[in-house]
Amino acid sequence: MNIFVVNCGSSSLKYQLIDSDSEQVVAKGLCERIGIDGRLTHSPAGKDKYESDKPMPDHKSAVSFVLEALTDSEHGVINDLSEIGAVGHRIVHGGEKFASSVVITDEVIKAIEECNDLAPLHNPANLIGISACRELMPNTPMVAVFDTAFHQTMPAKAYMYGVPFEYYDEYKVRKYGFHGTSHSFVSKRLLQLLGKEQGESKVIICHLGNGSSITAVKNGESVDTSMGFTPLDGLIMGTRSGSIDPAVVQFLAGKLNKSIDDILTILNKKSGVEGISGVSSDFRDLEAAANDGNERAELALEMFAYRAALYIGSYVAALNGVDGIAFTAGIGENNITMRRKIMGYLNYLGINLDEEANSKRGEELMISTADSKVKVYVIPTNEELAIARETLALI
Ligand code: ADP
Repeated sequence: MNIFVVNCGSSSLKYQLIDSDSEQVVAKGLCERIGIDGRLTHSPAGKDKYESDKPMPDHKSAVSFVLEALTDSEHGVINDLSEIGAVGHRIVHGGEKFASSVVITDEVIKAIEECNDLAPLHNPANLIGISACRELMPNTPMVAVFDTAFHQTMPAKAYMYGVPFEYYDEYKVRKYGFHGTSHSFVSKRLLQLLGKEQGESKVIICHLGNGSSITAVKNGESVDTSMGFTPLDGLIMGTRSGSIDPAVVQFLAGKLNKSIDDILTILNKKSGVEGISGVSSDFRDLEAAANDGNERAELALEMFAYRAALYIGSYVAALNGVDGIAFTAGIGENNITMRRKIMGYLNYLGINLDEEANSKRGEELMISTADSKVKVYVIPTNEELAIARETLALI
């Protein structure tokens, strides 16, 4: 069966059509600048890439162009829409309402809407994607897969903040965690590679990309994670500060004569390794600059590695041990130097880096030496495939 996986943002829409039998991507693509002008890049497997600048005034027109591209006689991959068996939607925030994926109904849409407050930039866009698809494919079953759901197993001692309890009661202020689809996918694969039963396992997953988070997974369930109420918390990221003393917000608002909203925008969009280095949020640029002697770029890389190592250490404590660690996402899968820097902090766990294995990029491999007490793997993440699997399982 073909499963249409949709990740709808405020002005973009990423999609993949996945054959659930072979788990191969039949076509994938991206709509950008929705509501501004519009650009579609469509890549059908085994055929030439197709690009179009047809105007996309709204998400419905974007979905409609994608469906046209998928069924087109030249660059299409299916004959008609009846060959799409189901749609899987990536939804950022499921709050406390969703601890797993669900088949989309009117009630589910209402419940997702009730979480909008918690992800005001993302959830409304995700919902627009759902309604556009429902209008164009009214009889096709659809599933919502949440970034937060995997972390709903965290115990209260991990997800509560040290603030008056009524803010949790009344406003649901707590840690939620994100990247759950990726952490779930990679942790399952890590257990297979370690030959461990889910029921007796302790692993740590490092999803290091533009946005980064680390999760402690015990017996197959998330027990703690570095992102919090929003994805701003935890690790230092491409442009996000990660954890910071909240008093800095008030101090900077005063010094810069800016609002709290302005400071939060700075912490989300102008901070992280980009803000520290003044060079870029992209780790390839940072490495090149550091190699040219740029000290702030080197500092940014050192800070990133140090913070990651601190989280790994604290999660070893949370799990009271660790069987295996996995690196995933853009940096985790590809950045040889960053993996080496982080692994350099882990010798106390009996972990040693296999330099030769670590010299490879973008493939599944063990990068700890054979005699390391704790095994460390690189495992490419595949959130779209994870969404397709969840969708298939539910319909
Ligand atoms: P997103 O959170 O946007 O999905 P990704 O997981 O794609 O992000 O990660 C993007 C990061 O991965 C960038 O900082 C980029 O520099 C890094 N990256 C990708 N490929 C490489 C590579 N070959 N070497 C080093 N870093 C890489």
